[in-house]
Amino acid sequence: ASLAALDPVVPGPHRVQDRTLPAPAHSGEGFANTPDTDPAIAANRAWGSGILSRVPASEAGIATIEASRRADAASVDGVLRTASIAAQAWQALGAAGRAAVLHRAGDVLEARRAELLEVMAAEAGKTLDQSDPEVSEAIDFAHFYAERARELPGIDGARFHPHDVTVVTPPWNFPVAIPAGSTLAALATGSSVVIKPARATRRCGAVMVEALWEAGVPRDVLQLVQLDDPALGEHLIASPVVDHVILTGGYETAELFRSFRPDLPLSGETSGKNAIIVTPSADLDLAVKDVVNSAFGHAGQKCSAASLVILVGSVAASRRFRAQLVDAVRSLHVALPTDPESQMGPIIAAPTGKLLSGLTTLGEGETWLVKPAALPGSDALWSPGVRDGVRRGSEYHLTEYFGPILGIMTARSLEEAIAIQNEIDYGLTSGLHSLDADEIRTWLAGVEAGNLYVNRGITGAIVQRQPFGGWKKSVVGAGFKAGGPNYLLGLGRWTDSTGAG
Ligand code: GLU
Repeated sequence: ASLAALDPVVPGPHRVQDRTLPAPAHSGEGFANTPDTDPAIAANRAWGSGILSRVPASEAGIATIEASRRADAASVDGVLRTASIAAQAWQALGAAGRAAVLHRAGDVLEARRAELLEVMAAEAGKTLDQSDPEVSEAIDFAHFYAERARELPGIDGARFHPHDVTVVTPPWNFPVAIPAGSTLAALATGSSVVIKPARATRRCGAVMVEALWEAGVPRDVLQLVQLDDPALGEHLIASPVVDHVILTGGYETAELFRSFRPDLPLSGETSGKNAIIVTPSADLDLAVKDVVNSAFGHAGQKCSAASLVILVGSVAASRRFRAQLVDAVRSLHVALPTDPESQMGPIIAAPTGKLLSGLTTLGEGETWLVKPAALPGSDALWSPGVRDGVRRGSEYHLTEYFGPILGIMTARSLEEAIAIQNEIDYGLTSGLHSLDADEIRTWLAGVEAGNLYVNRGITGAIVQRQPFGGWKKSVVGAGFKAGGPNYLLGLGRWTDSTGAG
């Protein structure tokens, strides 16, 4: 059975839906530019500085980055030594003391919501509909892990020993929620954290770190490093002082980390190639909406995104689903995040390599139902694409593209659709649209993915309610799910109550 079975589905805090959006603040006129001496730190987008200039506090984010930038091997060792020493006092504070700090962190993240939205728009190109729930998710992680950590010291006669030094290497696609979630989880257990934000979204990481400092996390307990030199990254990961690494990123990155240090205690969530299956019993209107949102939210740049839709039986044969899908995709308002109405923003950078070929070329037997195109305004802005006729075993079927492309496959039966899905090496999210209880049972029993969603989109897992994690090549390490009751269990060491490991 899937790991999903380990994590009961419980009502979550529902924070994502009940936020009042701040007034969009993107007009940009009349504000002095934020000084930024390093063009590599300056948002790599033409529109970035215009947005950031509205946010004086993000200057502090730059200061944080600046303070961490003159790294060499000796300073990395110093950071790790500091983290290791600081962990003692952090652990002595106890779970309740740390929980108080983490709850405060949730409050500070809320207070700095507008600022976080700004840096996410500027660096990651995130549109408001995507960035606002992401801040909510970070806040949910703070309150959730604060409470879960109180249960850790002893479970069933076993004793939990926190790590001293955890390294967090988050991705750029969720530049606030994932760094915050990983960091807050490790902090809750009593570990110090050294975080290395993704290069493209380092200011998001810096503002998040500052929010935690402001809430009372000591600066020695939480340190930010930016290591542009890959040799320094290797030095950090390979250091024997590091007890644990929490990675969210590509599967290849996990392999690279393991090549640095074969015994590396590594946990994390890696790649995905996710499908939604639509059967003839489905509510097709709902299915189209969920497929479009899952495929093109944040321009498809989510490990959880739907990259395939598999149409079963008469849905595959009739024109209705395809026609509605084409209408819905064509109606998406694709624009830079400076446009508050934007429903799909830019790709993280002008597409190259595999993504560019996915946007411009078709595999054998495939046709464009909606052909993607480069749009004016930025070389990273592309309209979404839908390719029909994707063949079983083809490159598009089996590999991750991480961009605004959706492929259509067909199957004669639900069983065949499940087999098509399970042929993929990854198993992160998966969706079924069906109103037939037997079909739902068959699918739940047969599908190989960590997060299974029925009659819902397959992105946007809610903390506590939909613990998030993968199966197969979508997970490394213990595989406890983020935002679930067991996540913290994998972040420390266990002994029996006599202390024997
Ligand atoms: N947790 C996110 C979701 O449920 C996905 C995270 C990722 O893309 O790594 O959509």
